[in-house]
Amino acid sequence: MSGKIAVIGSNMVDLITYMDRMPEAGETLEAPNFQIGHGGKGANQAIAAARLGAKVVMVTKVGDDLFADNTIKNFENHGIDTRFVKKVAGKSSGVAPIFVDPTGENRILIIKGANADLCPQDIDEAAEELKTCSLILLQLEVSLETIYYAIEFGAKHGIKTILNPAPADPRLDIERIRKVTFFTPNESELALLTGLPVETQEDVEKAARTLIQKGIETVVVTMGSRGALLITAETSELIPSSKVKAVDTTGAGDAFIGSFARFYSTSNDVSASLKTAALYAADSITKRGTQTSYATPAEFEEFRK
Ligand code: ATP
Repeated sequence: MSGKIAVIGSNMVDLITYMDRMPEAGETLEAPNFQIGHGGKGANQAIAAARLGAKVVMVTKVGDDLFADNTIKNFENHGIDTRFVKKVAGKSSGVAPIFVDPTGENRILIIKGANADLCPQDIDEAAEELKTCSLILLQLEVSLETIYYAIEFGAKHGIKTILNPAPADPRLDIERIRKVTFFTPNESELALLTGLPVETQEDVEKAARTLIQKGIETVVVTMGSRGALLITAETSELIPSSKVKAVDTTGAGDAFIGSFARFYSTSNDVSASLKTAALYAADSITKRGTQTSYATPAEFEEFRK
């Protein structure tokens, strides 16, 4: 395996307002604080893998607004190949206005903007580069047609694919993702996609097995502090979570997937890579922020001591 990772997915700019209370309709209210952060599931996973030293190619779309150059610069600062980050004229970049009240509760809006324009043709344009990658990472913040096409592309060219079906989308057609190598829902996404209960570990395994029966090779169900369940036709293994003091769990799922991609693409060992990814995600929740909480190899070594 080349070890190079492609992410075909989203990028977002988080616009975080810290407020005392929500304004009423027609009311103008002063808020004490505001912060801008880089996010989007595709970008987060790309940054996690790149922070750990992976060569990463990003296939995504930005708008023609002032967020676009910042987003590209953020990728470049992490050594990510941005030749396939395209600007869409007349569109906004993907943004997520987030309102945080004094209790820490979030209200989040997602405006996909240019992310909604990522299409199969963008995969064709990056095809030669994608063929040099060991893994393609996919999430659900871009169109389903693009996801289906990417999985077919991976299968046709012998490139392994990981689909993280987040945010949950009941329209995802399991028939059309059968050729994915790794399918990584969390418990609620698994429940939504299978219509089955996920209360106990037994429930989770049963539900995941229905996906294996439909032809998916490997399912990894993430269960927060309860760990992750690795399921194939022959095996089932609980990947334990580390006990840590959670400070901010935002982006833990992306830290897990992005780091798994890095560890797996260099070792080819699924179980060991998931165990290390669980540690990497645990480290990320001990720090504030999303991408800013993803450790470098040196920081991760320190955490593991
Ligand atoms: P997100 O909230 O980012 O969307 P997710 O629902 O996709 O996350 P989770 O199952 O919450 O994914 O987390 C992914 C992995 O991160 C878990 O399998 C676990 O290894 C680790 N993790 C998450 N939360 C915790 C926690 N509280 N303590 C320890 N490890 C955790």
